[in-house]
Amino acid sequence: MRKKIIAANWKMNMTVSETAGFLEDFRLDIEDVNGVEIVIAPPFTALAKLSELLGGSQKIRLGAQNMYFEMSGAFTGEISPAMLRELFVRYVILGHSERRQIFGETDALINKKVHAALASELKPILCVGETLAERDAGKEKQVLETQLKGSLAGVTAEQMLDVVVAYEPVWAIGTGRNASPEQAQDAHAHVRAVLAALTNAETADKVRIQYGGSVKPANAAVILSQPDIDGALVGGAALEPRSFSEIVKAAVPQ
Ligand code: PEP
Repeated sequence: MRKKIIAANWKMNMTVSETAGFLEDFRLDIEDVNGVEIVIAPPFTALAKLSELLGGSQKIRLGAQNMYFEMSGAFTGEISPAMLRELFVRYVILGHSERRQIFGETDALINKKVHAALASELKPILCVGETLAERDAGKEKQVLETQLKGSLAGVTAEQMLDVVVAYEPVWAIGTGRNASPEQAQDAHAHVRAVLAALTNAETADKVRIQYGGSVKPANAAVILSQPDIDGALVGGAALEPRSFSEIVKAAVPQ
């Protein structure tokens, strides 16, 4: 049984004071929730405060939205794995489509980050997904395969167990337009097949694959009920405690 993982990607939103306010309300909302792994990835400026407020919570894990692959040095504007580890960060989102599209991140760079994260005991949430043009051209499976093979090159079967993959069709992110449960399941099954080819079927069966793209309380349950969908990476709907907690509740094992 793969434990479902629901992660909030706050992107460039939420100040330190807004983070504290969110956590106060969110904690009350999820008091009775069990059996789901919850991750919050705030902007870097709020990581230290959230880490302090969480105080090593088992229920809510801390995530980062990005990092560089070097441990320290002359890399202006970047954050290292060591800096994240010191704040008890457990997960790091890598290869988000906004990083790929706006900041030009390639699979080769993302691969270096994946290895740096694993070497520092940070669990990568590796994002993959096709654009609308790629889907319209019938190339979505090929795109997923290329991104997975490039980003996960050299990752062993044992290391793969610490990787979470997030399938995020670019056309569904922040657009209000989500993939149908069938489209998402089909893509997730393909991701799992590629992971099996990269490692083995037993390993691929244990890796969690999240869906991301306009997940909200109204569509979370049906998406999360698909056999190969093991959680959600949530952007817009994770900025408000009640809507994020409702998505978390939709992932509680029945
Ligand atoms: C995301 O950015 O990872 C995401 C899925 O955003 P949204 O939920 O807003 O579509």
